[in-house]
Amino acid sequence: MIAWDSAEHTLIEKWTNDRSLPNLNKLKKRGIYETLGSTAEWFAGSVWPAFSTGMPPEKNNVYNHIQWNPQEMKTLKPSPDWLPVKPFWRDLSTRGIKICVVDLPFTYETEPVNGAELAGISTLENLAGPSYYPGTLKSVITSKFGKPPSLIEPYGCVSYKALTELRDKLLKTVEHIENVTLELIKRVEADLIIVNFPSTHLGGHRFWNRSCMKDTLSDIEKHEFENSLKLIYARCDEALGKIQSAIKNYSHLFVFSLHGMGPNTNRSQILEGMVDKVLGRDSQKNSGILLQIRNSIPLTFRNKVKAMMPPNIQDFLTLFWRNKPLSDYGEIIPIEMDLQGFIRFNLKNREKGGILNESEYDDYCLKITEGFYGFKNIETDNSIVQDILLAKDIYGEIPYDSYIPDIIVKWVQTPIDNTNKFVSEKFGEVQWTTPGITVDGRSGNHMPEGFMIVDGKGIDNSIKLSNAHILDIAPTIYKLFDLQKPANMTGRPLF
Ligand SMILES: [Zn+2]
Repeated sequence: MIAWDSAEHTLIEKWTNDRSLPNLNKLKKRGIYETLGSTAEWFAGSVWPAFSTGMPPEKNNVYNHIQWNPQEMKTLKPSPDWLPVKPFWRDLSTRGIKICVVDLPFTYETEPVNGAELAGISTLENLAGPSYYPGTLKSVITSKFGKPPSLIEPYGCVSYKALTELRDKLLKTVEHIENVTLELIKRVEADLIIVNFPSTHLGGHRFWNRSCMKDTLSDIEKHEFENSLKLIYARCDEALGKIQSAIKNYSHLFVFSLHGMGPNTNRSQILEGMVDKVLGRDSQKNSGILLQIRNSIPLTFRNKVKAMMPPNIQDFLTLFWRNKPLSDYGEIIPIEMDLQGFIRFNLKNREKGGILNESEYDDYCLKITEGFYGFKNIETDNSIVQDILLAKDIYGEIPYDSYIPDIIVKWVQTPIDNTNKFVSEKFGEVQWTTPGITVDGRSGNHMPEGFMIVDGKGIDNSIKLSNAHILDIAPTIYKLFDLQKPANMTGRPLF
């Protein structure tokens, strides 16, 4: 199984058709090709845990690489002590399947397995530092191929030079993962190999289009920039060819992504502003003096200073500023994330400092929902909220045992290019901090559909699957090994 993280299926179709991805094109022509529905429809960050557990976020409770912890009242990285999830390949390993797993996102530190597993190496969404099983692999790999390139995403819009350096690092990362995989194929006679290439993911965020480009570019530079993503996909295709030749006799080969990429539609930076307007409060005023001083410093300057710090300090600062003293949270807690807008209620008997009564829950759902639908982009007069999902509707009751947000906001699927100000007739204006461009410097952001190409025994291109979903992948693997899928997996085998 080879993942091209967040590879966009429309690009896969375009670049297999024009032969830019010759190896993938061959597989696509003779095997199954399908787009995949995913849990990213409402939770962009949920796809890897959904894949690895075969459960949607409302069941496994993991929906983002940092998420709200109600016991601590903080946004934190998921960890085994509060979100104990076990990926299906570790379960298969205990059932006698020999595995070789290379750097899948959202994986906790490696455990002893039947075979080999590497985690937290170059993946963007690492939940723990680099870990290798068996431990001796670390020195073997670093002495042969050097240290893995560390992928650090620059925050905000950056220079052409910085983005060119990032592109080269993304290409180097493909090479590293390719080398490690080829080495492990030689060393471990695995029944199941799963490898992830993270470069198509970060590449898609940063090279989707030139809307976040700070510099004026020459025609050659424009061409270079616009070719970057294709170059990354093509390098993954080259790696695919090498891995295919190294494995030779596979029974099945999957190449897949769990969600896709399109123009950035993330408006969650104004989530807090919108909540404040609807509830008639001022979070800035009520926030601690430190946060007030921080917010008075221009964002571009803050980004510059942050970018100069080591990644672990950057991580620490991100979490530090997102979290407040208990007394500073009101009834409603907006949680700024990478795409959809998440709102958690500060509910009594659920959150550590809960102040909202159960009897007020429905009122707040209604107030926020109605208020949010009234906000429009001041230039285009279009609404900015496409849809809102309530956790209560998913579970059928107020979710006391759940970690997912109480309200999930899906923004309209239009790029942020002309974003400046948002206005609600009833509640007033909310200002966008960086008029006309994204705050995070990402020109691309996630789309909910992934893709899957399958080649192998009994597979040909006449097989058409209906409504294939990422939750179906793990059950399919169990079936291929003739094993019963765990009862809590909600998907079904695809073939
Ligand atoms: Zn992403």
